[in-house]
Amino acid sequence: MTKILAITNQKGGVGKTTTTVNLAASLAAAKQRVLLIDLDPQGNATMGSGVDKRDLQASVYDVLLGSKTVAEARVHSEAGKYDMLAANRDLAGAEIELVDVPHRETRLRDAVHAVASEYDYVLIDCPPALNLLTLNGLCAARSVMIPMQCEYYALEGLSDLVNTIRKVRANLNPDLEIEGLLRTMFDPRNTLAQQVSDQLQEHFGSKVYRTVIPRNVRLAEAPSYGVPALYHDKLSKGTQAYLALAGELLNNAAQPAA
Ligand code: ADP
Ligand code: MG
Repeated sequence: MTKILAITNQKGGVGKTTTTVNLAASLAAAKQRVLLIDLDPQGNATMGSGVDKRDLQASVYDVLLGSKTVAEARVHSEAGKYDMLAANRDLAGAEIELVDVPHRETRLRDAVHAVASEYDYVLIDCPPALNLLTLNGLCAARSVMIPMQCEYYALEGLSDLVNTIRKVRANLNPDLEIEGLLRTMFDPRNTLAQQVSDQLQEHFGSKVYRTVIPRNVRLAEAPSYGVPALYHDKLSKGTQAYLALAGELLNNAAQPAA
């Protein structure tokens, strides 16, 4: 069955886009058929996949507004070896344009389900807000991956997000699960980071991925070359961590449900 994952956290700068792009490339390198959906008007996942957001024939905006199907609007990222629904600033207007549209929270879900069987993984990069775009991501997804930095306010933000996910489950998407929490930009020498990481494991147990993403400059550099880090520096610690995360997901998927 296709795994549809929303990568979300209402906080900006926690590594959502870096995770979406590098996980997509790592899964594609493991011969998985991947569709990446950029739901952020900043279009960072689009540019980081080597697709120019200033030069799009069609984007996720057209899909949300219903003027194009996913099959018509998707493009192929040569740099990442996956398909994608790209985004640019047009998407910022979608929120307002969708206000009067029926089923405005489930527009993406209905569009994506038509092509889901063509993919093993659909990864949705959410914007840093709990807005209508994020709601569309959470309704289209079957599960949520939450990237987070292990810092002081992280746990507080996390409980807001967990509450939102509960509300979405109660009202819009009863099947939505938390797939896992991903520790990003991790520095093991930082005592506070270590403490927050311990607390996370206490509260969320096996929902915390074993793979930890280290702070690594190659991950930050790769987007300026328009490629996932795998094709910028394959041996870097950052690249290796995302390959390991892909392995963890594939491994979990292969285990019979407990
Ligand atoms: P978000 O999508 O949550 O806003 P990004 O993925 O864009 O976050 O990351 C924010 C910034 O941090 C970007 O400049 C990105 O290149 C950098 N970054 C993300 N993850 C790492 C990492 N593991 N090591 C170093 N820099 C990182
Ligand atoms: Mg982002």
